[in-house]
Amino acid sequence: MSSPFDLTGKTAIVTGANTGLGQAIAEALATAGADIVAVGRTPPVDTRFAVEALGRRFHDVSADLSTLEPIGRIVAETVEHFGAVDILVNNAGIIRRNDAALFTEDDWDAVMDVNLKTTFFLTQAVGRRMMEQGRGGKIINIASMLSYQGGIRVPSYAASKSGLAGITKALANEWAGKGINVNAIAPGYFSTNNTTALRADEDRSRDILARIPAGRWGTPADIGGAAVFLSSSAADYVHGTLLAVDGGWLGR
Ligand code: NAD
Repeated sequence: MSSPFDLTGKTAIVTGANTGLGQAIAEALATAGADIVAVGRTPPVDTRFAVEALGRRFHDVSADLSTLEPIGRIVAETVEHFGAVDILVNNAGIIRRNDAALFTEDDWDAVMDVNLKTTFFLTQAVGRRMMEQGRGGKIINIASMLSYQGGIRVPSYAASKSGLAGITKALANEWAGKGINVNAIAPGYFSTNNTTALRADEDRSRDILARIPAGRWGTPADIGGAAVFLSSSAADYVHGTLLAVDGGWLGR
């Protein structure tokens, strides 16, 4: 009997897969058997090496996700290379930090465009393709603790990740009946580029660590299992949920 977590023969698009959580997710999906389409601004050299070393196929689409321009290309190139798209992981995201009273329109728009607007319209395009294919699909949004909480000095990030929780549930409501699972992973505090400034701030870094029951920050390797689960047939009846991978942060 094959494992319910087996992704052999599936094609997964992962945005922002050159580094951090996206890289770890791409490697975990490839380990479970999926071929990978990596989407982003920076050539995903290490990710390609790791995925191909696992014997999986790899294609990268060079794309700046701050506009909707690349969306058509992402779907077209995926289908051209691998014939179909089965999994989409909306991982690419940015953060801007400033006091709310000083926050600029640019810091608002930049974050909302990448984290929410492009994510929605890429999901729309991939969802349409999955409906045409008629064999369902899995969509995973990378949310945040700030899908639940307000955070400190990151208002556009909190708005974008709270909005992402909303569209995760909205799309699940529409697409669950079509066999397309839309869910999210809400990472806690992970050591990646996204949290460099936070970890450099000794007071904030100490306060965060003190609140994590697991007693440590997450590392990218901690995220892969949740992504494999939500991409697999083991999650066929899981719709519109946010799966926290947070070392226990939310339980405090
Ligand atoms: P990261 O900064 O290392 O990775 C972000 C990725 O997004 C990179 O690959 C980057 O190139 C890509 N990206 C950003 N803007 C882009 C654009 N305009 N076009 C194309 N690609 C773009 O940080 P990370 O921690 O790996 O972040 C991955 C996701 O996880 C993000 O959505 C982030 O908000 C989320 N997240 C991270 C943490 C954490 O603690 N690190 C916690 C919660 C959520």
